[in-house]
Amino acid sequence: MELVEERPYRFRIEPHGPMRVPGVVFASRGLLRDAEKSLEQVVNVATLPGIVGASYAMPDIHWGYGFPIGGVAATDVDDGGVVSPGGVGFDISCGVRLLAADSDRQTLEPALPEIMDALDRAIPRGAGPGGVWRLSGPGQLEEILEGGSRYAVTHGHGEERDLTRCEDGGAVAEADGAQVSGRARERGLGQVGSLGSANHFLEIQQVTEVYDERVAAGFGLALGQVCVMIHCGSRGLGHQICTDHVRAMDRVMNRYGITVPDRQLACAPVDSPEGRAYLGAMAAAANYGRANRQLLSDATRRIFRRATGARLSLVYDVSHNLAKIETHTVDGTRRRLCVHRKGATRAFPPAHPELPEELREFGQPVLIPGTMGTASYVLAGVPGGDAFHSTCHGAGRVMSRHQAARAVAGAELRARLERGGIAVRPRSLRGLAEETPEAYKDVSAVVAASEGAGLCRTVARLVPLGVVKG
Ligand code: 5GP
Ligand code: MN
Ligand code: MN
Repeated sequence: MELVEERPYRFRIEPHGPMRVPGVVFASRGLLRDAEKSLEQVVNVATLPGIVGASYAMPDIHWGYGFPIGGVAATDVDDGGVVSPGGVGFDISCGVRLLAADSDRQTLEPALPEIMDALDRAIPRGAGPGGVWRLSGPGQLEEILEGGSRYAVTHGHGEERDLTRCEDGGAVAEADGAQVSGRARERGLGQVGSLGSANHFLEIQQVTEVYDERVAAGFGLALGQVCVMIHCGSRGLGHQICTDHVRAMDRVMNRYGITVPDRQLACAPVDSPEGRAYLGAMAAAANYGRANRQLLSDATRRIFRRATGARLSLVYDVSHNLAKIETHTVDGTRRRLCVHRKGATRAFPPAHPELPEELREFGQPVLIPGTMGTASYVLAGVPGGDAFHSTCHGAGRVMSRHQAARAVAGAELRARLERGGIAVRPRSLRGLAEETPEAYKDVSAVVAASEGAGLCRTVARLVPLGVVKG
């Protein structure tokens, strides 16, 4: 693949063959080592009907289902633009939330082992059912699909501020429960408030660097402070919705005269019955994902309060797998776009009207998990941010789960992390090994490339003190 370096951290793939727009890749050459297959996916995405600007890739790009993980693609809703479930991914609305404690490491240190043990017992993990909230029946699931974390808060699982600090105020308005299949509901019913498998985690962290005092303070973060980062999504419900709607679109693409270079890019016009059906179901899954993170926060807060009296306040909650209808100025005109972010995080600039008032002068908090052995980051959206105001979502995998599990034994990894002062509460040692820090790119390099490309600015660095692994 020929990459033309336009400027530092920005490469271009010239349109060729059926590409409608160029590919634009934000990265360094080093980060793109072994990225050939995912760059082919960037090219494939550039062929989608109605795509606007470019097929973008973030510095944490790696191979995904149809679309690369770390991909951003926007299509024009009013000009035949399509929506593709593969552009969101199987874990719809997978995302991250960060809670800040009102105490620092020194104060909390003596209670950490007790807190870790309590989290280990309280946080449901793994592929199976079992969440922190046993629903009274399908009616309650319906309300979660509609109400997201708002529903959880209304029922005593959180505080009003949790909603202002969550993307979309805690719930997407356009959810359509009628587009969620019986099988998807069945899979979701018992899993409300559960972490899922090994890439998902709940981590106690400490702020070890502040790069921007003003913005950090605005986000409620300070040096030495203890935080909790939660990464999880919409569990079996989201997965089933993706499966169902990929299948439905695969059947009708022909009828709309759409051909794609890879069947995994199955799509339909945003403004078609199939497109609307997917977006309605996707929104329901997004609400489920937020309720999920809300319930895990509630369980965590109770544990912190009981152990030390510490309070946890939500810094922000943002998805990194979602398609959203947003208005952007493209070549001087306002256009309604369907912005797919898959393994990419929305990063609204300061003054954006969708930010809560108290964050407006700072820009949107962007939460970037790294690995359980290295670090994670808090970033902020910047004026003029590229790729429809998007940035990276993590370090990005370089080894498959299988390769990682062969490279290190789980028990050895656990011992190594604990020697380094990181308490580990894994569900399984095999799952832990699959997530070994070597399986990921260097998150600091990813963040430096994202900032260097003008997508965001770095606010704070956090290191793990303890990890509860899915
Ligand atoms: P994904 O949503 O693509 O599965 O994961 C997002 C990112 O989470 C990964 O790219 C990786 O950088 C990060 N990650 C995975 N496991 C852990 C963990 O245990 N702790 C932290 N801090 N980050 C992790
Ligand atoms: Mn996920
Ligand atoms: Mn994720």
